[in-house]
Amino acid sequence: MTLETFLNDLPHIAAQTEPAIVKRKSRDFYWYSPALKAQLHGLAAQAVVIPRTTDDVLDIARAARRHNVPLTVRGGGTGNYGQAVPLQQGVIVDMTEMNRVLKVEHGVARVQAGANILALDRELRGQGLEIRMFPSTKRTASIGGFYCGGSGGIGSVRWGGLGNPGNLLGARLVSLAARPEVQDLRGRDVFCLQHAYGTTGIVTEVDVPVEPVIAWQDLAIGFADFAAAAAFGRALAMQPGIDRKLVSVIDARLVPYFPHLSSVVPPGHAIVIAMVAPAAVAVVDDLARQQNGSICYRADMHEAEDDPTRMPLYELTWNHTTLQVLKKDRSFTYLQCLHPAQDMSESVATMTRLLGEEVMFHLEFMNVGGQIACAGLPVFRFTTQDRLDAIIALFRAHGVSVANPHVYTLEDGSPRQQIAPELLAAKHRNDPMGLLNPGKMRSFTPAAQETPA
Ligand code: FAD
Repeated sequence: MTLETFLNDLPHIAAQTEPAIVKRKSRDFYWYSPALKAQLHGLAAQAVVIPRTTDDVLDIARAARRHNVPLTVRGGGTGNYGQAVPLQQGVIVDMTEMNRVLKVEHGVARVQAGANILALDRELRGQGLEIRMFPSTKRTASIGGFYCGGSGGIGSVRWGGLGNPGNLLGARLVSLAARPEVQDLRGRDVFCLQHAYGTTGIVTEVDVPVEPVIAWQDLAIGFADFAAAAAFGRALAMQPGIDRKLVSVIDARLVPYFPHLSSVVPPGHAIVIAMVAPAAVAVVDDLARQQNGSICYRADMHEAEDDPTRMPLYELTWNHTTLQVLKKDRSFTYLQCLHPAQDMSESVATMTRLLGEEVMFHLEFMNVGGQIACAGLPVFRFTTQDRLDAIIALFRAHGVSVANPHVYTLEDGSPRQQIAPELLAAKHRNDPMGLLNPGKMRSFTPAAQETPA
C-alpha cells in the first residue's frame, strides 16, 4: 500500500507514524485469551490518523478508497477479541478527538462517537441526567466503541442488551462505498453498526437515550454460599419496585481478588453486588436479611467513581471480574455465557455442579426479551486449548449459549457462529472492497477491484 501518498492526501488531519505509538494503538485487550495472544501478538498498523470532524473522516475514507488502504477504527481500545487489532496493517483511525456532546434534548444525547463514556456521563450529570447503560470499562471506553464492539453491561438488568431496539436511537456513519458518503441512520437501520467491529462503516455520531440521574448506592451483600447469593440476586433483579442498575453474583473464591472488598466480606462468603437507588437500600437490606444475607459494604457510586483512589463496585463486575483476577495471576481466562431465562436457576446449579471445582462463577443479571436472565463470565485457569474447547462444549451441551471470546471473527464469536444477513448486506453496501477492519467478517468476500470515482 502507498502509505505516504495516503498521508500526503490528508495534510489537514493529525497523524502518527512513530512505531511505538502505532504499536500501542494497534492493541486491545485480546491478551485475556491465551489463544488470541498467540495469534495476534505483534500485529500492527503502519500509521494512526486522528480525525476531528465527520468531514475529516470522509476525507480519510476517500483516501483509503483511492489508495486501497485498510482502516481499523479505534475508540478506547478496550475490546476483548482483537476487535481493534489490524490483521492487515493499514491505518488506525483514532476517534478519541471526536469527543463532544453535541445536543441533549427530549431524553436523547447526540454525541460524537469518540467521547469517553465517563466524561460523557459526568457532563450529563451536570444537567441532571445519565446514560442508561455502560460497560464496566466506563473510565476508558468510548461511546462509539461500546455500540460497535460491546454488548451490554451496567443498566442491562433494566434495559436489556445494546442490540435491543431503543438502546441506540440514531447514528451518523461514513461508508467506504465507491463514493464514500455520510449516512444518517435511524430505527432498525442502526443495527448494521452494532457489534460489527467497525466493519460496516465509521461511526462519527450516536444518539444515546438518557434518563434522570440517580445517586446510585453501591452495595455488597454477603451470603454463606453461592446458591443463596444466586437466589437473592435473581429475586432482586426481578423486583419491579426496586430501582436497580446492576445485580451481580460473585463466587466466594473471587472475593480475595477484589482489593476493596476482601477485608469487609466475611471469609468464605459469596456476594451480591448491586447498584440501587438510595430509597431502595432499606428495602434491599430487609430482603437480604429475610434470606440470611447482610450488607457488608455501602458507598455512593459517583463519589467512588470521581475519586481516582477508590473503585466503584461495577469495576468488579462483568468482565472486570476477570481483570481483577488477571492482575494477580495471568494464568486465568474466561468465557461469556448466557443461561436460559426459563430454567436459569437449574442451569446455574447444573453448571456449578459440573464445573464448580475448576471454574469460578459470577452471574450478571440482564433483561432478555422481557425476562430476567443471567449472563455468566466464568473465570478459570487456562490449561490447554482442548480443555478450553471441552468446557465451551459442556456449557453448550447443557443449553447455555456461549459467545466465544477466544476467536477474532464476528462469526466465530457469535453464539450461533454466524452473522445476520442484514449485517453482511450492509458490509457489501458500505465497504465493497473490504477495507474496514479486514479479516474480521469471514463470510464476506470483497468485490472485484472497481475503479473509484
Ligand atoms: P474499541 O476497543 O476501541 O473498539 C471496539 C470495536 O469497535 C472495534 O472493532 C473497533 O474497530 C470498533 N469501533 C470503535 N469505535 C468505532 C467507531 N466510531 N466506528 C466504527 N467502529 C468503531 N463490553 C461490554 O459490552 N460490557 C462490559 O461490561 C464490558 N466490560 C469489559 C471489561 C474489561 C476489563 C474489558 C477489557 C472489556 C470489557 N468490555 C465490555 C469490552 C469493551 O470494553 C467494551 O465493548 C467497550 O465498550 C469498547 O469500547 P472502546 O471504545 O474501548 O472500543
